[in-house]
Amino acid sequence: MGVTAKWAGSRLLLRRLRDVMAGGGTPQERLDRIAKLIARDMVAEVCSIYVRRAGDVLELFATEGLKPEAVHATRLRVGEGIVGDIAAHSRPTALADAQSHPNFAYRPETGEEAYKSLMGVPILRGGRVLGVLAVQNRTSRAYTDEEVEVMETIAMVVAELVASGEVVQRREQAPADGIAMTPLRLDAVKLNAGLAMGRAVLHRPYVPVGRLIAEDEAQEQERLAEALSAMHRSLDDMVDQADVDGAGDHVDILKTYRMIAQDRGWIRRIGEAISTGLTAEGAVVRVQDETRARMKDVEDSYLRERLLDLEDLAYRLLQHLAGGPEQMAAAQGDLPEDAILVARNMGPAELLDYDRARLRGLVLEEGSATSHVAIVARALEIPVLGRVKNIVDRVEAFDRIIVDANNGVCFVRPGEDFRAAFETSMRTFQEKREAYRRERDLPSVSRDGVALELMMNAGLLIDMPHLHESGACGIGLYRTEVPFMVRSDFPDVDTQTDLYARILDQADGKEVVFRTLDIGGDKVLPYFQSSDEENPAMGWRAIRIAMDRPGLLRTQLRAMLRAAGERPISIMFPMVADLTEFEYARRLLMKELRRAEERGGPAPGRVKVGAMLEVPSLAFQIRAMAGRADFLSVGSNDLMQFLFASDRGNPRLDGRYDPLSPPALAFLAHVVREADAARIPLSVCGEMAGDPIQAMALIGLGLRRLSMAPAAIGPVRTMVRSLHVAATGAFTESLLDARGHSLRARLAGFARDHGVVL
Ligand code: PEP
Ligand code: MG
Repeated sequence: MGVTAKWAGSRLLLRRLRDVMAGGGTPQERLDRIAKLIARDMVAEVCSIYVRRAGDVLELFATEGLKPEAVHATRLRVGEGIVGDIAAHSRPTALADAQSHPNFAYRPETGEEAYKSLMGVPILRGGRVLGVLAVQNRTSRAYTDEEVEVMETIAMVVAELVASGEVVQRREQAPADGIAMTPLRLDAVKLNAGLAMGRAVLHRPYVPVGRLIAEDEAQEQERLAEALSAMHRSLDDMVDQADVDGAGDHVDILKTYRMIAQDRGWIRRIGEAISTGLTAEGAVVRVQDETRARMKDVEDSYLRERLLDLEDLAYRLLQHLAGGPEQMAAAQGDLPEDAILVARNMGPAELLDYDRARLRGLVLEEGSATSHVAIVARALEIPVLGRVKNIVDRVEAFDRIIVDANNGVCFVRPGEDFRAAFETSMRTFQEKREAYRRERDLPSVSRDGVALELMMNAGLLIDMPHLHESGACGIGLYRTEVPFMVRSDFPDVDTQTDLYARILDQADGKEVVFRTLDIGGDKVLPYFQSSDEENPAMGWRAIRIAMDRPGLLRTQLRAMLRAAGERPISIMFPMVADLTEFEYARRLLMKELRRAEERGGPAPGRVKVGAMLEVPSLAFQIRAMAGRADFLSVGSNDLMQFLFASDRGNPRLDGRYDPLSPPALAFLAHVVREADAARIPLSVCGEMAGDPIQAMALIGLGLRRLSMAPAAIGPVRTMVRSLHVAATGAFTESLLDARGHSLRARLAGFARDHGVVL
């Protein structure tokens, strides 16, 4: 059967539905007629329409087949019964024997004990569940996948009527959701530090798509084809523009995105949805709903990113169907001067669509530190909060919002007093930032004349300008996996050489420590097959992958040496747990160096080779590295994770163990002693180095080189300039035998008594 013939029934039903929707009568009468029509067409004895009300209640609004007195009387909580379950998970359910299902919730007033089978789908609009549409049959009926699909399409059309407000408002005088108007304090994950206050702008507010049911299928297919080519053209322009701007790696993100826009499966599904009787817009929305539903079940971060890109593209395509992004933007009105963008999630290209000058902050319902949009936002210096539960449903456009991405909290509709207080802290924060910028050329020397090396961590070319703005003396950690993560394929030697050369060019003579690929764990490369692992942080990652796939590491080392030319270069290996791993990687480097020399090209002035110390076992092999390692750098993020067996990415464990505790300091003191004995220069490049009080403790332990996020350099420099290193050393030493969960309060007391600025 051809696609067109297959959906003939669906097209007919949609047309009848359109006539009912356009017909006269009250909204309630129209809902009743819709229930009747669906029951008849789907050959079901029952069709019921449940609408979501305030307080997460699903109310029976219309039914054909159940007892009429149940209408507006039967209510279920979201999550309760099979219907509640459909709403809670926003996914369709078809059960030949519904009554024996563990979730079946019997409501005597409905008389539904007579019906054995049930099929229900969520009524969705813009990703929100507005209700549930269900049919029931007396016999044990096995609903087909096609029938489920038809119901989903119908539910989409019903959503327009439910969302129009007429249906609910007529029965409800109070605001739709009284609870939503109260101030809220919501916990979040910090994705980029900073403070912001402004007005909520809902990213991708639901745009009424107008007609959903098609008059003429061929015409709709043609409209789709035209909109697709317009969208592809505009993406080409976007990539070209980014190329011209020389923006570096975010061009790669855009290129990947453009490639996904050509996805045949996606385009075919939209075409097929038109065949069911929908307009081009209706078909895009239908496929977008499907994508969202799939996303709920996907854990894999790569697949999630791809689905997210598809959702983003669907929205873009709708814009082109509406006559182009400009028309749509005009319909949505201007962006406020102090926009705080609120989104379930978003693609990197979408963020770049907004006027940067008006964007103050970004709040995401999903999002992770490695999501593309977070990477781009960081480069644009926009504070970002992620994993804010249900934020999209809890915020109205133009609500006031406070983004405290320094502490991981979002305030919605804060009171006036609170806003005033926050404004003061924002001003202080801003003034401090400017002061740090002015002081960037001041030497990082302590009161007793000890010079400290403060370096910066980076991972993208767009981070590089911070090197000079912050006054850092070099890059102590360049995470090379970050540019790999935002690409669609493995960069070859030439591409990598070009990237590393640009980093060295921009560093302009300052040292850059390149860390070789640290993939695995939460750092997924789209094009690199990773295995499903129970425990990825302790699994096949970093140097372990490099040893099993030496080609990867050799390519990278070759590119680094070529990029250096005659310039000196520093290279370090991540996650070294055993000396043999370091030896192996070092041998590969030496081979590559010899190869370069034999070829007679320019050879680096000096190659320094080192290891990250982030697995505790390496702390007991330091002496054996004497003369072999030119430096060691403590990755405190992973080191503390493994020392305390405490997942660094688990918000429930956040702050449970303190790096300023007796065991952690004793461990670090051991590392300092061993590195001294082996005469191996030691640095710290984890988050610990970027927090003034922790940096103070590290200096007290004897560290002289710290590498941190660019924004941390100013505060740490100020701390260093107010510090007496010898006194701090003596105090830290005295703490090493101390007991207790944390030494933070004692260190803070020392700072207070000795005028150390924290
Ligand atoms: C660390 O583990 O401390 C570190 C600097 O590496 P990453 O955060 O990239 O794992
Ligand atoms: Mg690490």
